[in-house]
Amino acid sequence: MTIKPLIILPDPVLRQVSAPLERVDDAVKRLADDMLETMYDAPGIGLAAIQIGVPRRILVIDVAKEGEEKAPQVFINPEILGASEDRSTYEEGCLSIPDYYAEVERPAAITLRYLDRDGAERQMEADGLLATCLQHEIDHLNGVLFIDHISKLKREMVVRKFTKAAKLRGSKAI
Ligand code: ZN
Repeated sequence: MTIKPLIILPDPVLRQVSAPLERVDDAVKRLADDMLETMYDAPGIGLAAIQIGVPRRILVIDVAKEGEEKAPQVFINPEILGASEDRSTYEEGCLSIPDYYAEVERPAAITLRYLDRDGAERQMEADGLLATCLQHEIDHLNGVLFIDHISKLKREMVVRKFTKAAKLRGSKAI
């Protein structure tokens, strides 16, 4: 397993729409394992493949609480079949937008269809933090970031800040 470098805002790669995986083979399992290792190292509770520059519809999540045993989950070609009218608000963050957090409102519960790490088709109901995390990561597969769900003013501020930081990183490299 390998820890991969994370793609950071405002890299346009984050705006790409990821393509479905045609089969779950050893290469896909390796990708899932690398993603989990990268996520745990960060540390984070969710990661989409596009965040390490791979435009494929796969994401990994572990919403186990601190002190609890690890509970890695792999979702391949996830599809939201239904969402509750009830909504809930979480303070979200993103490994591609480090150290920035904002409250985002989303459906409180979803029904999801996906393939697991072994390629088996599964369906699940998710609520609480898992539902939020799944929606956040599925957004990534569609080139959508959590800052797209906050006010335009706040979003522009964040993008400006990260664009400036990226320029500074660039100039240091010269
Ligand atoms: Zn994210």
